[in-house]
Amino acid sequence: MSFVFEPAPVPSVAVAGSEARFPVRRIFCVGRNYAEHAREMGNDPDKEPPFFFTKPADAVVADGAAIAYPPETGNLHFEAELVVAIGKAGRDVPEAEAPDHVWGYAAGNDLTRRDLQAKAKEMRRPWDWAKGFDRSAPIGALHPVAEVGHPETGFIRCEVNGEVKQDSDLAEMIWKVPGIVAFLSASMEIRPGDLIMTGTPAGVGKLEVGDVCTVSIQGLGSVTTTIGPKG
Ligand code: MN
Repeated sequence: MSFVFEPAPVPSVAVAGSEARFPVRRIFCVGRNYAEHAREMGNDPDKEPPFFFTKPADAVVADGAAIAYPPETGNLHFEAELVVAIGKAGRDVPEAEAPDHVWGYAAGNDLTRRDLQAKAKEMRRPWDWAKGFDRSAPIGALHPVAEVGHPETGFIRCEVNGEVKQDSDLAEMIWKVPGIVAFLSASMEIRPGDLIMTGTPAGVGKLEVGDVCTVSIQGLGSVTTTIGPKG
């Protein structure tokens, strides 16, 4: 078989302490998964089933990258998030078996064009343009479960130019990783290479040209992104 042109390279994420990379298939993201953030966005955090949106696999950006300030926004936001990497396929995965499907964890940043998201909500339109733009998913090196286990507590932080903007704990997640995997796999077959960004704590805010943004999670390292000029 041949292609009419050279296929795009497989998007991938670094693995801590290894030369091998984790190939990315899809990126799922959970909305409103920390009560204080749900409130700051004007929603009631009472437990409702998790809901998902997606980003393209090739939106991944490595630690240390500079990205252009994206077009069509004047309100680019950071969102510190725990990233779950799926290593084993499954459908209707029960919560008790969910950990077996996880390959590793990383720190990630769900970059968001907040003004486009607000407009989408107001007009009852999809969030894709607000969430799934080019280079909207900085993700740090993955840490294999074999080394870090399944972190359920520990700090999750976002700093902009060294100033702490978000400072919470993984224990504050409304839906824990097993519940998220169970819900997701009831709706779609999860496959190796899928990533899940699990929602952000309170304190989201703006990034400006020249800002340096670092998301860090206890035991999982960090991901730093520099915002370059509009491009
Ligand atoms: Mn998010």
